[in-house]
Amino acid sequence: MKKIAVLPGDGIGPEVIGSALTVLDAVTHDLEFLHGEIGLECHSRTGEYLPRETLDIIDESDAVLFGAITTPLGDPNYRSPILQLRKQLDLYANVRPLRKVHPSLGLVDLDAIIVRENTEGMYTQIERQDPEGVTLERRVSIRGSRRIVRFARELAEKNCRKRITCVHKSNALRRSDGLFREIFFEEMMGSNLEVKELLVDAAAAAMIDRYKEIDVIVTLNLYGDILSDEGSALTGGLGLSPSANMNAEFGLFEPVHGSAPDIAGRGVANPTAAILSGAMMLDFLEMSTEAETIRLAVHDAIDKGARTRDMKGDHSTQQFTDVVASLCHPV
Ligand code: ATP
Repeated sequence: MKKIAVLPGDGIGPEVIGSALTVLDAVTHDLEFLHGEIGLECHSRTGEYLPRETLDIIDESDAVLFGAITTPLGDPNYRSPILQLRKQLDLYANVRPLRKVHPSLGLVDLDAIIVRENTEGMYTQIERQDPEGVTLERRVSIRGSRRIVRFARELAEKNCRKRITCVHKSNALRRSDGLFREIFFEEMMGSNLEVKELLVDAAAAAMIDRYKEIDVIVTLNLYGDILSDEGSALTGGLGLSPSANMNAEFGLFEPVHGSAPDIAGRGVANPTAAILSGAMMLDFLEMSTEAETIRLAVHDAIDKGARTRDMKGDHSTQQFTDVVASLCHPV
């Protein structure tokens, strides 16, 4: 029995994570769910965004399934609990598969995986204010670069991908991005993968006009963040995009979208991203048959006409979830 820390969070988080749990229940009885609190609502009740009890639940668990949190307005001391968790658990790799869930959705036939460095780069949160403005510390370390490149190489090889592309901006950021690039080529020596590089601006364009050339991308934090949202938009939208924050031993799985306060509580959110994040979690737990069952069920549900509003349909979150669950058969 694997233990899963379930952290639904704010806004549509509880709705879409509820759907993911329904679908996971339909494919396996080998998961035990431990529910924890996180985020803005938790803060208004308990005074904490990430209470000790939640950290204890995570400690006991084999993986985390996370929904979304709402960022408070006007709290200068706010530290995002999800950024905190990524740091604390040292989940240095952010993995986002980018491909159409169904041929009728999305704009481009991309089939890519973006592996993004998750702990340093532009998101160190170390900012210094002086009378003239603000200076941000942007960190590119040898250790951080080496481990993310190794992670991406292993992931590409394990998934029988053909090509790996390092995305950077070393023409402008010669020392920092130059270091990342150098380590990439060092670490790729001896690999059977086709090894490429692209400047981040060229990569943004290539994802649209040369998408067949994009396979696995390994990149720094900010570039990965932006390119993966572009990839989401190209392959169907935020409601369909799953992601993982990982290291070799542990993983936190979450939909790419945020808490979507504009549609929260109305039962119209698309739960696909959360459901597919659950499937990524099963892959990580070496339950790949069950994971594939979920992916097929999502495809078949959409094929049969089940679509939420963002997919130009009229299914509620619950109705869509019920169709997916009914197409999942326990393995
Ligand atoms: P946050 O500050 O929590 O990131 P946000 O509204 O800025 O919230 P998202 O939550 O990612 O950012 O939402 C962006 C837009 O996409 C919103 O209009 C939202 O309604 C829509 N959206 C996001 N997720 C979904 C979903 N699962 N189903 C349908 N629409 C969604």
